[in-house]
Amino acid sequence: MIFSETRGNDGTRPVRVGFASALLSPVASFGGIYSPESMQPVAPDFIERHLTSSYKQLALALLQHLDIDIDTPILQQALDLYDRFDDASDPVPVVKLDHGLFVSELYHGPTRAFKDMALQPFGLILSSLAQRQQQQYLILTATSGDTGPAALETFRDRANIRLACLYPDGGTSDVQRLQMVTEDAANLKVIGIHGNFDDAQSALKSLLTSESFNRRLQELDISLSAANSVNFGRIVFQMLYQFHSYLSLLRQGEIGLGDKVVLHIPSGNFGNALGAFYARRLGLPIAKIVIASNANNVLTEWIHSGCYDLSKRDLISTTSPAMDILKSSNVERVLFDLFGAARTLELMQQLDNSGRYQLDAREHEQIEEIFAADDCSDEEGRQYIRQAFANGYLMDPHTATCFKTCQAPAFADQVNIIYSTAEWTKFASVLDNAINGNEPESDQVALAAVAASAGIEVPESIASLFSKPIAHPMVVEKQDIESEILQFLEAGH
Ligand SMILES: *Cc1c(COP(=O)(O)O)cnc(C)c1O
Repeated sequence: MIFSETRGNDGTRPVRVGFASALLSPVASFGGIYSPESMQPVAPDFIERHLTSSYKQLALALLQHLDIDIDTPILQQALDLYDRFDDASDPVPVVKLDHGLFVSELYHGPTRAFKDMALQPFGLILSSLAQRQQQQYLILTATSGDTGPAALETFRDRANIRLACLYPDGGTSDVQRLQMVTEDAANLKVIGIHGNFDDAQSALKSLLTSESFNRRLQELDISLSAANSVNFGRIVFQMLYQFHSYLSLLRQGEIGLGDKVVLHIPSGNFGNALGAFYARRLGLPIAKIVIASNANNVLTEWIHSGCYDLSKRDLISTTSPAMDILKSSNVERVLFDLFGAARTLELMQQLDNSGRYQLDAREHEQIEEIFAADDCSDEEGRQYIRQAFANGYLMDPHTATCFKTCQAPAFADQVNIIYSTAEWTKFASVLDNAINGNEPESDQVALAAVAASAGIEVPESIASLFSKPIAHPMVVEKQDIESEILQFLEAGH
């Protein structure tokens, strides 16, 4: 697979790169990103031939079809990490909730969120590339909750990689914070910041541009890499499970070969949705990709009107914080794929300069042919959580937004698959409020209350967090981050 730059080339960077290179340095000319130049559909009998394949066999076949420049034994080792999910024989179970309504649960990995689907294999591959280059890498990440735990878990004790993770103190759920601060390994550093997620992100940005910081990295011979969701090394593992859920429905006799399905995706930075977009490019029979948003409904507006407009918006804090995003970075790859680099540069410059762009009528038509969208308020989300609970199903507030998109009359007679992105345990306070009307004082109280209502135990991996020793007690001011991270790097040297 060959990648080129979404905004064209400025003469200083390579015009075309392979997968490994795009993974190590995702940033391209004019602030763009590397993106697949084209994507060939799989053979017409591909799906039929994989009726009895395991998740790992299917994933390997798709990755081989994509022809990425990673040695097969490394890919196999990376995919073997799915064996550590709840059920090694089915790491991504598809559950039937109703006639024509299915949930593909992407959260059965070690940190109970969909981020594990991609970050688990990604961590192993990045470390193996770094070892082959005999180069030390530092990964810096700012998290609002789910990326941090999944990144720490995948890079723990991985050779040639050090990870520093910044989170807003008080800006994550208790469970998410504990998942981070209890991760004890010499190559991991977790730092809380007094402030919100924007403060954590801007602290990260100033670090990346700090001259003293970059000079010291050079002296230590440490390169920077990124594990954020625009990294194609993550996207590539998010375009496989759509095939798996399709095959699951075929096996269960719920659909016939070639039948089209509707995919509903709780979206933030558009990485999960982009995976579905590429799965459709690969030939999976997808009728529509439905983008679910919360009150930050930029994507709904974009799909309905062709206008991406940030100019009159402020970020709203919701009960689905992983979707509290206004500038969804991966939308750029859809623009590039459909309209080419010159037009993408034009549109992204308009967005950067004036906070908005408007697609023309023909472009908008192309978007609407592939995507549909709706947004779901926190109150509606609570109602869907309550309803699903009454029917015996526990789901988290991100997943709940898709119950809104499923209501559209156009999807009533179709086969709908909701992509569930987190286990309820990560957002227990929202569930306790929705189901029991409580205002719990902590996640620990909420976990117990929801578990009691449902007649289940709190899963051990979550319950045990509350008694684990805190390995990273540090919460600092923004201006102290640089020296803290340098100390961490020098200690490991
Ligand atoms: C990351 C995340 C999302 C959003 O996924 P994108 O790929 O950024 O659109 C939704 N729900 C949960 C729980 C997440 O962790």
